[in-house]
Amino acid sequence: MTGSERTAVVVEDDDDIRELITHSLTMQGFEVAAAASGQAGLDLVMANDPDLVTLDLGLPDLDGIEVCRRVRDVSQAYVVMISARTDEIDRLMGLEIGADDYLTKPFSPRELQARVNAMFRRPRAVRATADVPAAGTNGSPPAPTPAATPSGGESDATTIRHGRIAVDAEGRVVTVDGKEADLTRTEFDLLATLLSAPRRVWSRAVLLDGLWGPGWSEEHLVEVHVGNLRRKLTKLGPAGGRAPIRTVRGVGYRMEEPDAF
Ligand code: CA
Repeated sequence: MTGSERTAVVVEDDDDIRELITHSLTMQGFEVAAAASGQAGLDLVMANDPDLVTLDLGLPDLDGIEVCRRVRDVSQAYVVMISARTDEIDRLMGLEIGADDYLTKPFSPRELQARVNAMFRRPRAVRATADVPAAGTNGSPPAPTPAATPSGGESDATTIRHGRIAVDAEGRVVTVDGKEADLTRTEFDLLATLLSAPRRVWSRAVLLDGLWGPGWSEEHLVEVHVGNLRRKLTKLGPAGGRAPIRTVRGVGYRMEEPDAF
């Protein structure tokens, strides 16, 4: 396929589903390599350095969770975990295994395509968060993005500082007190979005829209990712310190004041 730059690895032991996913992603312009076992999938990830990995939870050799962790160790790919069981998905979301999205079988090719489109449409670092519609609770316009502030002081064009947190938007690296946070892509995008207007209260619906695309109603997904992000950032700060992301009850989230955590 000419002009195709995006590559995917599909890891799925069920032949029909593997073909369905492969076909669906190919139609979306991905160059797809598929594997029927966890180890073969890991080998493909190492060899192909894909942009996207779809990963079945139940594999014949390795646990999908383990495969996901190992993919995370070697790859920056978006990872979609696929499971037949909704309760498994809920459990996985709490495990911080580094997946970016979750799909329950059965799903339609259209649903998979929509999820994938949403992930690849997400704001890339801070400069793209202007795509996120303004929805402050008080109707005030969002603050200018930190990336747009003139260089000087403590921020430059690609580094945003907020208290102990420094975000290198270009390198997609986040540090707390100089210690690097091990964030997933989703967590990074979430933090970059919050920091694009740190005094604004971001509703779950707006974050869901901005990061996953319109049409989704699973605000639970936002809560889980914010929870994981908050935990990772907090543990790098001083013991017993306050979390850098505040929950505004009944509304959503905002960054804590920079000198308060
Ligand atoms: Ca399976």
